[in-house]
Amino acid sequence: MLVVDDDEKLLDLYEELLTSHGFRVVRAQNGKQALELVKSDLPDVILLDVIMPGFDGFEVCSRLQQDPRTAYIPVIFVTASRKHQDKIRAFAVGAVDYLVKPFEERTLIEKIRFYCDTGIWWNELRPQKEKLPLSIVTDDFTRFRDYLIARIGPDPEKAQIIEKMTAAQLYPMARKLGLSDSELVQMISQFVGIPYIERIDPAEIELGRLPVSFCRANQVIPVKRNETDGLLISNPFDINIIDLIERLEKDGRKVSLFLIEPDKIVNLLGRRKITTSPVGEAGSDQSILSVANKVLYAAVRERASDIHIVTRKTDALVRFRIDGDMRTYFNLKKEVGIKLINRFKVLGDMDIAEKRKPQDGTFEAVMGEKNFRLRLASTRTPEGEYLVIRILEPYAKPRGLSELGMSGDQVEMMLDLINRTHGLILVVGPTGSGKTTTVYSLLSQIDCQSRNLVTVEDPVEYRIPFANQQQVDEKAGITFEILLKSVVRQDPDIIFMGEIRDQYSARMAMDFASTGHLTLTTLHTSNATTAVFRLERLGINRCVMAEAILCIVAQRLVKKLCPRCKKWRCVTDREREILAQFTPSPPDEVAVPVGCLECGHTGYRGREGIYEILRFDTRTAEMIRSGRPISEIRNHFRNSGVYLISNHAVEKVKKGIFAPMDVYRAVLAEEIELLQKPVR
Ligand SMILES: [Zn+2]
Repeated sequence: MLVVDDDEKLLDLYEELLTSHGFRVVRAQNGKQALELVKSDLPDVILLDVIMPGFDGFEVCSRLQQDPRTAYIPVIFVTASRKHQDKIRAFAVGAVDYLVKPFEERTLIEKIRFYCDTGIWWNELRPQKEKLPLSIVTDDFTRFRDYLIARIGPDPEKAQIIEKMTAAQLYPMARKLGLSDSELVQMISQFVGIPYIERIDPAEIELGRLPVSFCRANQVIPVKRNETDGLLISNPFDINIIDLIERLEKDGRKVSLFLIEPDKIVNLLGRRKITTSPVGEAGSDQSILSVANKVLYAAVRERASDIHIVTRKTDALVRFRIDGDMRTYFNLKKEVGIKLINRFKVLGDMDIAEKRKPQDGTFEAVMGEKNFRLRLASTRTPEGEYLVIRILEPYAKPRGLSELGMSGDQVEMMLDLINRTHGLILVVGPTGSGKTTTVYSLLSQIDCQSRNLVTVEDPVEYRIPFANQQQVDEKAGITFEILLKSVVRQDPDIIFMGEIRDQYSARMAMDFASTGHLTLTTLHTSNATTAVFRLERLGINRCVMAEAILCIVAQRLVKKLCPRCKKWRCVTDREREILAQFTPSPPDEVAVPVGCLECGHTGYRGREGIYEILRFDTRTAEMIRSGRPISEIRNHFRNSGVYLISNHAVEKVKKGIFAPMDVYRAVLAEEIELLQKPVR
């Protein structure tokens, strides 16, 4: 306990009383001395006299508030003043309680005990040590943005502002839309169903329940209304507020919420902003919030596509999928792993209590300028829960086709085809081969303001400006089939259908393409010729295919050698033997992985596509129509100089972009098999 009073006799009394109750007491006779003392010895609670020579209680308290080390220490004011204004002022500078002399000893001891406990949980509310440029957007907030768009009406410019909105800049960005704070807060109130109140009644304020610097930083004021504890907030989507409410509820405290404009809260608390990042003192950075942020931050920094959180018998692992490979990044105590999974489940609006049935959820996170969408899927293994988080960047500018790895000729061909008015562009490859990325890259070449693009996706992975993107929502009864049926009614010029998944969607794709719509879709199959075979199995007649299809793009993603450390060496006999099946001039030297600091000692950095584009010109269409077996057709293409995926792969081995064994695994092994035994 630090006790500050200019009356030495009173100090003696306090010391005797408090020591008899087991507190250790440090005394200060004036404000200056008190501020000096806290530098070396941080108390759990401070008892502060208001009227003192030099720095008075208000001054001391506001100085304590400005220092992140002391901002979260509960300060109890002791004064003879009963004036309401003084009380309000005390709370505004950061007091937790206000005792009017004379008071009973018992009251004082009870209060101090109470605030010692308070100090411990307040400590958890401290801003994190490491301030990450990260903010979370829950699904509720995403829905609120949709609601805002609906309320504001069709206005592409405003819609774009809303889509970029984060919970943290809710009010400033709404002002850009021409919405006043009071209009916005009432919309929020209608959306979330929290009552809006126009005016704060000072008699209801109970500032002492939360650290004032926390209240100020997060715009919240504790109140007592109709005998229940309440919180006045302006932004129910703010992650700190969500965390606070969750924490209070977990402690069994019931809290009612009320909405009010942010400036009314600010006026009451004062505008001074407390700097975050307290120095020293570990412990608080162990909070699960901070662990969760660190995991997200690390995943984005490492360009991971997925985060896996695995609880095992005695510990938990956080693993990232980077360039298709899994790597372990954090090894955590089992209970931390469980808390971490719960934390993400809360963000994803999933049921924490349900640990057995698989669940899905989503939320958004904003880091720096980038907006990420995170899709969660939880499952159960015999050893515990397992959570996979897919990281998407829906507002990222799609990469160009040559950036994806297409050759100059291939890019030229695709740019020609994407400007056609009808026909089907079919992108094929196995899972994780980057089909969707290619489609989005193609779609980004389309001027969606002059041509109407309608999509049916499950889920929408990237946002395309001005396109009408429709997402499957099975829970809400919006199925793939229902959306497909509605597409034509929307008068599209171009249609993107997520994938051909059955006979129905295969037929729809052909119908769209042959009735005057440029249509893009994907199919899970290994190459352009097997795609024909797959479509046949889905009930599509070869004549219909020859009629509707513009081209089939087949692709794979292959790990790129790290340009910093890759090593050239002589080609081995086995490598030469493999490569010779696809090129008349196999290289004498090939590049192989080594590993350096820059590539995390893996030898690889990033991935790049290899492609074959089978254009359905008259001759190809004729071959397809003829009904000849697939193997014969493929051999015909190979022999007549069509640039196949194997050619593209070998070319990139020659350039040292890929190592020979990686392209062997990705595509050549399969091609050699095709050469040897016919598909059917
Ligand atoms: Zn390297």
